[in-house]
This record gives sequence, C-alpha cells and structure tokens, in this order.
Amino acid sequence: MLIDVALPVPLYRTFTYRVPDGLTGSVAAGSRVVVPFRNRKEIGIVVGTATPTDTVKYKDVVEAPDEAPVMDEALLTLGRWIADYYLAPIGVALRSALPAALTGVDVPVPARKTRRVARISRELPSLLHRDRIFARAPQQRALYELLEAIGGQASVEHLGGKLAFSASVLKGLVARGLVEIDFETVERDPFLSRAQRAPDAHVPTEAQAHALERLAVAPPGHVALLHGVTGSGKTLVYLDFLKQLVLEQGKTAIVLVPEIALTPQTVDRFRAVFGDRIAVLHSALSDGERYDAWLALRRGEKRIAVGARSAIFAPLRNLGAIIVDEEHESSYKQGEAPRYHAREVAVVRARTEGAVVVLGSATPSLESWSNASSGKYELLTLPDRAGGAQLPSVAVVDLRAEQPKRPPSENAVGETAFSYAIGPALEAALDDRLGKGEQSILLLNRRGYSAFIQCGTCGDVAVCPNCSISLTYHRTPERLVCHYCLHSEPLHLSCNRCAGMRLRQRGLGTQQVERLLAERYPTARIARMDVDTTSGKWAHTEILDRVGAGEVDILLGTQMIAKGLDFPNVTLVGVIDADVGINLPDFRASERCFQLLSQVAGRAGRGPKGGAVLIQTRCPTHHAVRCAVTHDYRGFVQQELAGRKHPLYPPNVRIANVVLSGTQEDATARLATRAAAWLHKLLAKHATPGMTVIGPAPCPVERVKQRWRWHVLLKAERPQDLGRVAQYLVDRFEIPKQFGLRMTVDRDPVALL
Ligand code: ADP
Ligand code: ZN
Repeated sequence: MLIDVALPVPLYRTFTYRVPDGLTGSVAAGSRVVVPFRNRKEIGIVVGTATPTDTVKYKDVVEAPDEAPVMDEALLTLGRWIADYYLAPIGVALRSALPAALTGVDVPVPARKTRRVARISRELPSLLHRDRIFARAPQQRALYELLEAIGGQASVEHLGGKLAFSASVLKGLVARGLVEIDFETVERDPFLSRAQRAPDAHVPTEAQAHALERLAVAPPGHVALLHGVTGSGKTLVYLDFLKQLVLEQGKTAIVLVPEIALTPQTVDRFRAVFGDRIAVLHSALSDGERYDAWLALRRGEKRIAVGARSAIFAPLRNLGAIIVDEEHESSYKQGEAPRYHAREVAVVRARTEGAVVVLGSATPSLESWSNASSGKYELLTLPDRAGGAQLPSVAVVDLRAEQPKRPPSENAVGETAFSYAIGPALEAALDDRLGKGEQSILLLNRRGYSAFIQCGTCGDVAVCPNCSISLTYHRTPERLVCHYCLHSEPLHLSCNRCAGMRLRQRGLGTQQVERLLAERYPTARIARMDVDTTSGKWAHTEILDRVGAGEVDILLGTQMIAKGLDFPNVTLVGVIDADVGINLPDFRASERCFQLLSQVAGRAGRGPKGGAVLIQTRCPTHHAVRCAVTHDYRGFVQQELAGRKHPLYPPNVRIANVVLSGTQEDATARLATRAAAWLHKLLAKHATPGMTVIGPAPCPVERVKQRWRWHVLLKAERPQDLGRVAQYLVDRFEIPKQFGLRMTVDRDPVALL
C-alpha cells in the first residue's frame, strides 16, 4: 500500500511512502507514521492513499504508533482548509492541531512530578550592603533582583530557559548562601484545586432570555455575534446555552478565551456549572498533562474544552457549540505558520461539524461587526448591564492643560514627580477610594521603568543592536531591555554616540508608576501586573485572587488587567496615558486603543457602589478616546469604517501582508522590489478586478532579531482572488538561497508592524 504523508516541513506538498505489510493494520487517514526523510526520522500524518508510478521507488514507513487515527476526518478537513486559506504547508497546519506530545518522534512525555525551585534564602534590605555584595557580580545581582521581583522564587527550568540565566550565575548565588534550591512536587493542577464557587443562579434578563431563545433554535453552522456591554452578563448566556446542549442534549463544546491566566473568574464560573466535565487547557500544563487532557476529550470523558487559541482543535465529537469570548482579541491570531485566526477557524469548524458559534464581545472586531451588518452573522445584543448595575461615568483629563510641558527630571536619569504621572484629578479620586476602602485599577500599557533613554546633548536614543526598536529601561533588575528580541544590556553611564553624561529617561513605565504610588501612598497595598511580574506559572491568578479577596487597594498594570475581570469593589479605573499605541503606524491602532479603553473602563462599577473612570490623554478629540468616553461602540465603528475607505483597509477589503526578510539590507530591499514587480506583472497579465499591490516599503519595524524586513501588501475585494494570487506567489516566486532571504505571507493580518 502507498500513502501520502503530510510532514511538518516548510514545503508545499505531501510525500509518498510504502507501508510494509506488517503495518497496514495501523495505517489509515489521520494516523501518524514515522518515516525516513533526508537522513532523519520525521513524524507525519497520513492524508490519503497514493497511486503508484513505475519509475519511482518509494521508501518504507518505519513505524505506525497509533492504534486508531489521531485525527478524524473532520479535523483533517479543517487542517486542509487552514493550509489552503492561510497558505501554510499542510504538514505544518496539521501539526499545530495536535498536542506537542504527539508531534515528536519520541513517545509522549509523562507528566512532570517534581521540579527544582530556586528561592531567596537571605534578604538584603540594605542597598549599600547589596551594592557591596554584588560589586563584582552584576549578573548575580540581576538574577537575585529578578527573583525578588517575581515573588522570591521561580523554577530553575524557567530561569534557565525563558529567562536565559546561566547555571553558573545561580550556582554563585547558592554558594554565597543568598539563594537555595529545593525539589518541589509539582502541584496538582491549581485550576482543579481552586475553591469551587456556587453556580450563578440569576434569572436571565429580558435581553439574555431573548439571546438564549435565538440560540436554542439556531441551525447547524449558525454564527451569532453577541454584542453585550461590559457587565451585561454574556457569560450567563454562554453557560445557559451550554447547559442545554451539553447536559440535556449530550453534545460537546469548545470555549475559547484570550488567555486562561487572565480570565480565571470566567473559568471558575464554567467549572461551577460543569464540574469535571471540563478540560482546562491552560498554558502552564506540561506536554504530558496536555496530552492527558487531549485523551480525555477524545474519549468523551471530558465534554467541554476551555482554552486559548489552540483549543479550537480539541478532539471532540458531536460538537454542539463553539464560544469565542472576547472575539476581538488579537491573541486569537497565531504569529507563526500556520497564521490562523481561531475565530475564523471556529466558524469553519462549526460549519463542517454542524455546531453553533457564539462570538461574544463588548467591542466586536470590525470584521465580525460587518458580517453581522450584512446578515452573514446574527446580531444578538445585551444593551445594559445585568443586575441593575450602571455603566460607569467616564471623564477625560486633558494632559496638555494639566501638566507641565516637560517632566521635572529633564536633566538627568532621575525621578519623575508623582504629579507628572498622575494628575490632580486622578490623585483626588485615588485619595477618595483609599479613604473609603474601595479598590482602584490603574492602566498604563507600557512596562518597564521608562520607555527609552535619550541623550540630553545629542538626542541619541539607545536602540537594540538587533532590532530597530528603542531599548526600555528596567529598574529591577537594572537593565536596558529590547521588548522584541529580549536582548538586554547594562545601563550606560554616558551616551554611546557623543559620550555626553546627561542621559534622560523618557516615557513612564509601570515599574516607575508603581514606585511613585508606593512613595505617595506608603500604607496602600499596591499590586503590579505586567509581563515582568507574571513570569511565574500562577502569578496572574495569585495577583487576581488577592484583588478578589480585598487584599489589594490599587491594581496597576498593562493591558492584561483590562480583560474579563469582575470585581464589584473596584469603583475607580484610571488610565494613566491613553495615548500609548494610538499613533502606531498600523491600521488597527485606533481600534485597539478604543477596545482597550472600553474594556478597562468596563472593570469599574460592577457592584452596587457604582464606579467612575478617569482617562488621562493628550488626544481627547481622537475618536477612539471620544467614543470610549461615551460608551459609543456604534459611533466608533461608523467613523473607523469610514476611515478605512481611503486608503482601503479591512473589513472594506481583504488583505495579505507579504513580508520579505533577510540578514542583508540591500538584498532584502531588492527582493521586495522584485516581489512587488512580479505581482504587478501577474495582475496585469490576468486582469483581476478589485486587486491591488501596494509597496514595497520597509516594515514599520524595519529590523527584528538581526533581520531586515520589507513588505508588500496585497488587497482584494474578493477573498478567492486573494487566496489564488497569494498561493501562486508562494508556489512560483523564487527566493534566492542567500543572505537568509525569506518570504512569509500573513493573510488577514492583525497588525502590519
Ligand atoms: P460580561 O461577561 O458581559 O462582562 P458578566 O457575565 O461578567 O458580564 O456579568 C456581570 C455581572 O452581572 C456578574 O457579576 C454576573 O453574576 C451578573 N449577572 C449576570 N446576569 C445577571 C442577571 N440576569 N441578573 C443579575 N445579575 C446578573
Ligand atoms: Zn531587539
């Protein structure tokens, strides 16, 4: 027997192998096979049988490890669609639909039982003492302070792997008695041991009841957009809908959330209703644990998969529904091949398997909104907050009027005054909440201490040696860090270019605001939540649980605090700088800003005490800010859609971003020019109305990880045209094998940076 096998290699084809007689019993479409490929073994997925040609001698399959196929016909079909639509090799598309444990040539890894944990064993409260101890060991200091910053402990694997500290630095700290290393039994999955809450027992509001009635009669493949303002009770609609499907009709369901760690409350609410019928696919699972969950779903022991993007591939049969919560979130789009968008995959999967899709958001993506406007999706609306709560009042503080023109620290790397970060209005509101024992949330979507360092003499800004991005100043540990490639270096004492000594910090980051708050409110309990404080496995959940338990007065953080949090005692939300990101050269910059402001504002006033929102901005008239202030989603959409007509951008047109990159600047530019010319010629030859080629141009971030980047934009009125032209480009356009030249095609990109 001959079979076609999809291998996870960057080639747009399948490979034919012979199945030896002994293995034919365990080979079918969707099963895994181990095959020889270029002097190594690869694991691939059988996609079908092949017909022999006389001239070729086929290699033999080495091994067929599965008793039953790991992918059923429906998932294979989905994988093919992803490969076609997102222009990914079929083997790469199929691989991303399986848990990691099934895609390596090695057997599945068992769940980890113990791990090594590094813990601070001696505190160093005196800074002088610390300076002396670490005078000749800056690396040790960096590691020590990092441990401090993330709560005093971290797994050794994490320090070495993600954070790239070498074993010798850690050893040094241990030898000096500052840090100790323990074995720790890996905790039972904390999501399973979290206190069980009582299921929501509300009587649905009229709007919720209407939405539920509509969903109950939705035909297979139907897509509903549930547009509900923040706090309108979208989760109750999901829960009641799934109760019907899963508990009464015996079906299964997938619930997608942007990121499990950020939405523990949502997960708790599902667990309260469905108990151990749920598999929570969170990112802290080991490969072995993830594989166990996959098996349980496949065997039907678990009936609901809750997880981020990749949970869309949960091996469930008899699928009744797919819920996509916060459907506008850009984390649903995968940043590497296959560059799929889980929301779109959900719609396709539901269509093939006869399930119903619910896309929920307070600020739907413009794509989904226009699909609802055109009647392709059904629009269900929850216009008011549930349980009698009101939307918070939102006020704008115009920073141009309130602040001194320049930060007082203008002359040195020094301290910014509190009032530069937090103006009098926000300060008064914070005072008031602290006085009353109510909680506040402060958003600043920029981590680190200050955004960048600039020379006061020549104006030079410290940039990353690998990327065309300025370095962010971090204080603990004290480093300049690139947020793109994670390069880090010590803070310079003088300017790299002119050797001037007047280095200035520009742009506030969360670390700095945390410090200013701590100085201004020494007795307040402040928690900071950003990438730097949440590198531990359960750090997010711990911080959020503390807020929920009333142990935090002020929660300060980046966009990660804006998502589905429901804390009734939060009566104030302050946005320290609404303009971060608003001027990025990306067509979605305004949309993202509006969403972020609306979402974070939605955290206020969820309880009987009501709530208020204060937004500090220098662009009070920008429509993203203006419409967020008035809770005017429709107004925003109208203006934004109009703005995306000239020049044309989605959803008014379909686009694919063709990125050409390489290690050499000229060669990359030349390749991009050639690609654009090639596309122009193609379109001229085969008249394709409604299609245009824009560019080439350098990407807004011109260099990342030592690679130069240029792009060409393909725009099309009809998706089929875009798909065909892009596929033709991928198949036929030749990339010279030099200077590491590469081409990637990102269809329906979420950003063009
Ligand atoms: P959303 O997901 O739309 O932001 P949630 O589902 O978090 O909103 O609901 C907000 C709050 O309203 C929650 O505390 C929830 O328990 C409560 N709630 C939801 N539906 C009702 C209802 N029908 N009656 C009373 N309270 C409700
Ligand atoms: Zn970099």
